[in-house]
Parts: sequence; structure tokens; C-alpha cells
Amino acid sequence: MNRRERLLEEMGLGPVWRLRENRERQRAPDGPPPPSAPRRPAPPRFDPAPGIKGSAKVDLADDRAARILRMEWPELKSAVKSCEACGLRKTCTQTVFGVGDEEADWLLVGEAPGAEEDTRGEPFVGQAGRLLDNMLAAIGLSRGENVYICNVLKCRPPGNRNPEPFEVAQCSPHLLRQLELIKPKLILAMGRFAVQTLLGTEASIASLRGRLHRYQGVPLIVTYHPAYLLRNLPDKAKAWEDLCFARAAVAGL
Ligand code: URA
Repeated sequence: MNRRERLLEEMGLGPVWRLRENRERQRAPDGPPPPSAPRRPAPPRFDPAPGIKGSAKVDLADDRAARILRMEWPELKSAVKSCEACGLRKTCTQTVFGVGDEEADWLLVGEAPGAEEDTRGEPFVGQAGRLLDNMLAAIGLSRGENVYICNVLKCRPPGNRNPEPFEVAQCSPHLLRQLELIKPKLILAMGRFAVQTLLGTEASIASLRGRLHRYQGVPLIVTYHPAYLLRNLPDKAKAWEDLCFARAAVAGL
């Protein structure tokens, strides 16, 4: 088993199916021709779900947001480090800004740092992060190489509780500015909070998957959060479909 096959197996996606190279050679002497190869999936379409507003709630009339949206990387990083806008900084160990290639085609957005991320200052370094790394590897990507990973919130909510709307609103300008600076080809919104924040919808992940949405004009694909996948193994196959869809979308953009 090669590395890719091991990764797919770990994701619950084995065995690996391969196209046969010469179907004629495999035909039994008088038997029927072998089944035809699976057809290529149709190219991705933009197909926004009804009711999607397509933007996180960043109040552009707000001075603080307007200032953040003019920042370059060094200023933005220090603004996040010293941010006290929502109170989460009082209870977390450190801010978790984001990691990866600042000119990446792929921008992956999660929810908020967990315990390990809070300790190490890097997003997705715990168990969910290991699954994410394996999923990326299975489609030939790795963190730092044409991929940037960050969260809606840059500070860990105490006890990993859900982000509060006020916290999301205060942190959204940071995320929006990261997006503007990176200029990715595609955003992968992972989980309910990334999706709610970026698309401004309460619709379920299940109903939003499999379509190209847009945030600030950038194509966006919705998928399950890796931590959810650790608890719901059968949905790993759906996440794999989403990644393949995303890869096809990036290739076609
Ligand atoms: N979950 C997230 O949403 N982000 C992380 O960085 C880690 C776990």
C-alpha cells in the first residue's frame, strides 16, 4: 500500500479504485467487454443557495473595521496579538493568527483554536488537525504549500464553547483582511461557524455542500469540520467528495 492508499484507508475511503489501462487486454476471449470507466464529474457550477447573503457581518462604517481592512501583514498580525475587542484574550494563552502560504490558492477556515492550538499558537495542530493534514495529503496538498489555514476566531473560547455572535463580529475584520491579502482562488469553509460567518446563513452544511458559493467574490466550498468527522466517521466519505470537488474547482479557476 502506498502513502496515498494508506491515507485514504485511514479516512475510511479504501480500497483504492484504479482505472485499468487497457480494457481490451482484460476482455475474456469470448466474454463481454469490461464495464466502462466512470465518467468524469461535471465541472463545478456556481449555484448559490437561496437566502445566502454572501458576506460576514463586517460593518465597514465602523472605524476599527475600516482600519483593520487597510492593514498589511505585519500590522494585522500585531493587531490580532494585541486585540482586546471581545474579551476572549483574557482567558486564552495566546492568539492563533493562521499558518501557511500567504499567497496560497487555498484558504481553509475553521472555527476557533482548541486547547492544543492555544498552547502552540498554530491552528489545527490537535487530533482534528492531524485528520485535516491527512485529508490534504490525500489530494496532494500540505499546510504551508499553496494552503493557508486560519479560524474565524483567533482566541480560544474557554472550554471550547461555541463562539458568541459578538466575538465573531469583532474578529471578522481580521479574517476578511487575511482573505483580502491572500487573494486565494478558493475558500474551504469547514463547519457550521465558518459557514455561518462567511455565507451569513443558518442553512445546514448538508444542504450547502456540493455547490460553489462566493464570499467577497471568492469561490467558496462548504464542508464538514474535521472535529465533526472524528465523531461521525461515515461522513468522511462526503468530506472526501468535497475535497475532490474543491480540487476540480481550483483546477478550473
Ligand atoms: N478546530 C478549529 O476550528 N480550529 C482549530 O484550529 C482547531 C480545532
